[in-house]
Amino acid sequence: MEKHSNFIKTIMEEDLKNKKHDTIITRFPPEPNGFLHIGHARAIIINFELAKNFGGYTNLRFDDTNPEKEEEKYVHSIIEDVKWLGYEPKAILYASDYFNEMYQRALLLIKKGLAYVDDQSAEEISKTRGTLNTPGLNSPYRNRTVDENLNLFIKMKEGHFQEGEKVLRAKIDMANPNINLRDPVIYRISYEAHHRTKNDWVIYPMYDYAHPLEDAIEGITHSLCSLEFENHRPIYDWFVKETEMEKIPRQIEFGRLNIENTVMSKRYLKVLVDNKIVTGWDDPRLPTLSGLRNRGYTKEAIKEFILATGLSKTNASVSMAMLESFIRDDLQNKTSKMMAVLDPLKVTITNYPDNKIEEIIVPLDQNNPSLGEKTVYFSKHLYIEKDDFILEKPNKKWKRLAKDIEVRLFNAYFIKCHDVIYNDKGEIIELLVTYDEETKSGSGFNKRKPNGTIHFVSAAKALPATFNLLEPIIFDGEEPLLDRINKNSWQTKQGYVEKAMENKDEAVQFIRNGYFIRDQKEKEKLAYHRIVELKSSFK
Ligand code: ATP
Ligand code: MG
Repeated sequence: MEKHSNFIKTIMEEDLKNKKHDTIITRFPPEPNGFLHIGHARAIIINFELAKNFGGYTNLRFDDTNPEKEEEKYVHSIIEDVKWLGYEPKAILYASDYFNEMYQRALLLIKKGLAYVDDQSAEEISKTRGTLNTPGLNSPYRNRTVDENLNLFIKMKEGHFQEGEKVLRAKIDMANPNINLRDPVIYRISYEAHHRTKNDWVIYPMYDYAHPLEDAIEGITHSLCSLEFENHRPIYDWFVKETEMEKIPRQIEFGRLNIENTVMSKRYLKVLVDNKIVTGWDDPRLPTLSGLRNRGYTKEAIKEFILATGLSKTNASVSMAMLESFIRDDLQNKTSKMMAVLDPLKVTITNYPDNKIEEIIVPLDQNNPSLGEKTVYFSKHLYIEKDDFILEKPNKKWKRLAKDIEVRLFNAYFIKCHDVIYNDKGEIIELLVTYDEETKSGSGFNKRKPNGTIHFVSAAKALPATFNLLEPIIFDGEEPLLDRINKNSWQTKQGYVEKAMENKDEAVQFIRNGYFIRDQKEKEKLAYHRIVELKSSFK
C-alpha cells in the first residue's frame, strides 16, 4: 500500500493534521445477501490497509437491513473470506443491532418536522419523483402534522399496516436538482423474518438513511464506498446532521473493479447459483473469493492484483488475463514440478525388462532445492500425452515423438518409436518403442540430440486422476446473462498423475500442462482443477 499512495490517503492525512480526528476508523460494510467476490477484495484492502497505515482500525459491519435477501450462511462465508485475505476486523457488527437507535432518530426527524408518513404506493412515489430536468411533485400527505406522523409511524412499527401501505419519508425538497434529496423513503414495512432480529421489527430502514447512521454510531471517520454512491453523499450528510449524530463520518468514493468475461455482482452471481449453472457460490469458475480459493488462487496473488489495478477514483475494468498473470507469478517459484498425463496414450518399451521398475530421484523443482526431492518411476509400460505423438513428423517445428523419431523422456531416457498398434476403428492405441540405456538423464550423454523432451508417467506406478480444465463461465455481451453461458467452461479429462502426487494437496505445476490444485470436494478420488495455464492463452 505504501507505494500506492492515493487520494483517500491524502484526505486522511489532512484530517489528522487538522485534528479533525485522532485516529482513522473505517469499516467494510457488506450486505449478507451473497458471497464476497474479488471486487469486494478491493473494498476490503482499501479499508483495512488505509486504517492500518495510520494506526487506526476497521470494523466488519453487516449491512443487514433487507430481511428478504439476507441469510446467516452469507454472514459466515463473509467472515471467513475476510479472515482468509489476512484481515482481522476490530469488531464484527450488525446494522440490525442499531434498529432501535435508528427508530429513535426517525422519531426525532418527525418531531423536527423533517419526516412524514406517506400513504402513496411505491409506484406513485416513483412516478412523482420527477426527472433530471423536471422537479418532483409534493405528496398529498406531505403536510401531515407532527402528531399525526408520530402516531402513524408508531402504528407502522406496531404492525397495524400492510406491506406497502405506508412509508416514512424525509421532508426535504421535491424540486432539488439531486433526485436523492427529493423526500427519500427512510422506512418501509416488511413482515419477512430477519435472520437475526426475527420478527421483532416490521419496519426496516432504507440504505440511504441506515448507512450514515451506522457509520456515525460506530464512530467511523471515513466511510469509503464505491463510485455509484457519489450523488448520495448530500443525503448521507443530511441524515447525519439532522438526526443530530455526535460523530460526523465523511463519505469518500472510490472506483469499482470489474473483470471481463465474468460477473462481479452478487445479484448476477446468485442467478448462476440458483439456476444451477455452477456448483455453488464457491464454484472454482466464479470470481467469488471462495471460488478463487477452491481454484487455487492465493491471497498474495489476489492482493498483488488488486494493488496493481490501482486504487483510483475511476472504475477499472481489467482482463481475466491480468488476474491470471498474478497467480502464475505467485505459483512459479513455490510449486513442485510434477508429471501428469491428461490424455493418455500407452507406450511399451520392447527392449526393457518385463518386471523391472527403476526409481529415479530428482528435485521437486530444479530452481528451488529447498522444496526437496521426489522419486520418478520408470518401467516397461508408460503413458504419454496423445498429443505428443504423430505418425509422421510434419515439419521441423514438431519437437515431440513420431514414428522412427527419438525424444527424451523428462527425468529418464531417450525413446524411439518403431511401431504402432491400432484398434478396429483405425485409431492408434499403443506405441512400441525402444529405449537407450546410455541416455539416462544426468549421465551427460551427448552423442545424439533428441527431437524434443516430453513428459510421461510409469503405468506400473501412476495413479488414475481426473483433470478439470476450467474456463470463464460467461461471455461478455449485451444479451441476457443466461444466454451468454460458456457451455465448455468445465471440461474433464481422465488420465494419470505420477506416484509422487499421492498425498500432495498443495498447488503444483504439471509440467507442460499448467498449474493445478487438488479438488478439495472430491474425497474419494484424485481430481485436480487447473488453476491457470503455463502461458497466457489470452486472445
Ligand atoms: P454486489 O453488487 O456484488 O452485491 P454491493 O456493492 O451491493 O455488491 P455490498 O455487500 O453492499 O455489495 O458491498 C460491500 C462493499 O464492497 C461496498 O462498500 C461496495 O461498494 C464494495 N464493493 C462491492 N463490489 C465492488 C467492486 N466490484 N469493486 C469495488 N468495491 C466493491
Ligand atoms: Mg449492495
